[in-house]
Amino acid sequence: MEGGLHKAFVDELRDAYDAEKQLLKALPKLAKAATAEPLKAAFTEHLEQTRGQIERLEQVFASIEERARGKHCDGIAGIIEEGQSVMEEDLDPATMDACLIAAGQRSEHYEIAAYGTLVAWANVMGHTEAARLLDSILEEEKATDAKLNTLAEGGINRQAASSGQADAEGDEGRNAALGRGAAGPAASSRKSASSKSSRKTASSKKSGRSGSAKKTSSKKGRAAKRR
Ligand code: FE
Ligand code: FE
Repeated sequence: MEGGLHKAFVDELRDAYDAEKQLLKALPKLAKAATAEPLKAAFTEHLEQTRGQIERLEQVFASIEERARGKHCDGIAGIIEEGQSVMEEDLDPATMDACLIAAGQRSEHYEIAAYGTLVAWANVMGHTEAARLLDSILEEEKATDAKLNTLAEGGINRQAASSGQADAEGDEGRNAALGRGAAGPAASSRKSASSKSSRKTASSKKSGRSGSAKKTSSKKGRAAKRR
């Protein structure tokens, strides 16, 4: 039975190895797109950590006498692709930074899940050296997630919200011109978005009322979860 888990472990390792290599290319783009200096620095620092993580993964492969080889990680590819489409948007700097943090945290959470599994599996199979190396990577991913959280909560989200408020009036004017009420809950939730993403929301609503109803109910759902 352990043979089955060993194969699954090697597969997960290859997935993680490929994910880190994809992130090695994506992190400089996130750093370049960021405006706030501490955020730029956080992405650059994590780029350096990622290089070290790739080396440690190679040591993990060696410790279990397997060849270091990647296997395309679709999950991280999707997260990176979403991040890239955010970078193509015409957002004010604070909103862009808030969105880059969101993209970065998605990838950290994905990695935390992957390395959490890898550490547990290495431990249960008695691969102590592999478990130690993987745990050191897991701790870096957690620390990066916490740092991004601190940056978001420490001012970037608030700045993004106030720059969104500055053009909310213009947004409401556009809604009025399009013949839809701007006073509903969905409209008020858009106030924190930038003008560009608000325009996107407005145009996606052209397809019908269901979009707006969905937005409202998911907002209610989130509020209910918080309670
Ligand atoms: Fe990583
Ligand atoms: Fe990471």
